[in-house]
Amino acid sequence: MKLVVLKFGGTSVADVPQIKKIALKVKEVVNQGYKVIIVVSAMSGVTNNLIDLVKTTSESLSYPEYDVVLSTGEQVTSALLASALNNINIKARSWLGWQVPIISDKSHAKALIEEIKTDNLLEFFKKNQVAVISGFQGISNENRITTLGRGGSDTSAVAIAAAFSAERCDIYTDVDGVYTTDPRIVKSAKKLNLITYEEMLELASQGAKVLQTRSVALAMKYNVKLRVLSSFEDLPGTSIIKEEKNMEKTEISGIAHSLNEAKITLSGVPDQPGQAAEIFGALAKHSINVDMIVQSSSINQEATDITFTIPETDMIIAESTIKKIQKKICFKKFITDTNVVKISVVGNGMRTQSGIAKTMFETLANNQINIHVISTSEIKISVLISSDYYELAMRSLHSAFGLDV
Ligand code: ADP
Ligand code: ASP
Ligand code: MG
Repeated sequence: MKLVVLKFGGTSVADVPQIKKIALKVKEVVNQGYKVIIVVSAMSGVTNNLIDLVKTTSESLSYPEYDVVLSTGEQVTSALLASALNNINIKARSWLGWQVPIISDKSHAKALIEEIKTDNLLEFFKKNQVAVISGFQGISNENRITTLGRGGSDTSAVAIAAAFSAERCDIYTDVDGVYTTDPRIVKSAKKLNLITYEEMLELASQGAKVLQTRSVALAMKYNVKLRVLSSFEDLPGTSIIKEEKNMEKTEISGIAHSLNEAKITLSGVPDQPGQAAEIFGALAKHSINVDMIVQSSSINQEATDITFTIPETDMIIAESTIKKIQKKICFKKFITDTNVVKISVVGNGMRTQSGIAKTMFETLANNQINIHVISTSEIKISVLISSDYYELAMRSLHSAFGLDV
């Protein structure tokens, strides 16, 4: 069976006229002889509104109920698009996560997909042409609706493409591909025709929200042919490919930024074995992802400072967790800063090129931008800076690495 998965993000299905346009686009693919699985997001703005709604109803958030509320956004879009397709004589129906079923673990609000059962849809395709699946949602083995974390419809689409061995998975969005950096911030950003899975994974995990990180990891693992394309213009888009095929290899492929960052410093931590394990163990128990970590070396071997970053959205829970262990650890001060942004320069070429860090730090220095924390991997250098300067930092780094169009 010739099958493709097409995913449409929030702005692509923002209103009924737009949904009708998407239906015509889907019709073209059906006319090419494909069975089509559509994965849809909620209409743009809807998920944010639903989050606000949940927050106002209850002081103590119940994550299972939060997921039930949030999943309604995608439920509406799948039914609207299925109706629009039937209206133009394409046989389609909506499928909610639990109806497929897409089985996830029970970590509500950030659930991981465990399995996608294919029997129901394979039976459906014997008579029908298009399945419109609500993205972002699954069902746990406790029979409760789960959601997959912000931007999770990308992950739904790739997981479905892998489960059905789809010929390709096309992610339709409001930009015409993956750029060297966020084109809404840096006007001279350049569209990439090709990018490797590894580079895309690093860009996404450092904040480039054009694809959810887990969707790229899944595509890489299951060899899903992945493309990012515009919903609004008929343009070629960006293909995410294996490294050896990348003919456009440059030392730096892109620059990402993440606004959801918070810095915590514990000063006066006794310089003894087990302290870091105690601190980060306590945070891990609450599923708080710690990203950058710096420990200063203690001059007198008595006390040290530990600085680390976490998602800003986890700040309240991190603060209460750390304060609970203050007596045990005996650190002196707990200092926080949420006015920070992480900027990352990513590129496979970093493996063999020297001088990337020098260019990065010099460029920031020339613009009087102070670096709070630095972290590196084989193909990435990240710096934490004040959020007042992040647009300047992105623009000047983009130009310093010769990425401007
Ligand atoms: P959708 O609602 O379709 O899922 P998103 O808003 O999640 O769309 O992702 C698309 C947005 O990602 C773009 O509008 C753009 O601002 C942002 N973005 C960030 N970094 C990049 C990048 N490197 N290339 C393209 N878009 C990017
Ligand atoms: N609607 C969800 C969100 O806004 C999922 C998605 O759009 O991918 O995060
Ligand atoms: Mg998205």
